[in-house]
Amino acid sequence: MAESAITSEGWRYAHYFEFVRRIDRNVTVRCKLCPGQKLLSTAANTTSNLNKHLQRTHAKVKLIAKDRTPEPRVRML
Ligand SMILES: [Zn+2]
Repeated sequence: MAESAITSEGWRYAHYFEFVRRIDRNVTVRCKLCPGQKLLSTAANTTSNLNKHLQRTHAKVKLIAKDRTPEPRVRML
């Protein structure tokens, strides 16, 4: 049941990261906001590490949450 939260469509900030590789349950991504090749790794089923990175390292960046749900469904934000 460990669906990848990062590469699945559910994560609102996935567009700030580029998928690099997945080894077992660990996912490596590259942060597009960091200069150079800043690689971060996290467990595949959670984005909390990456959320923390955004909040800590890019606190001054106005983050845009993208809702990638294709259906016109009313969602609680
Ligand atoms: Zn970054």
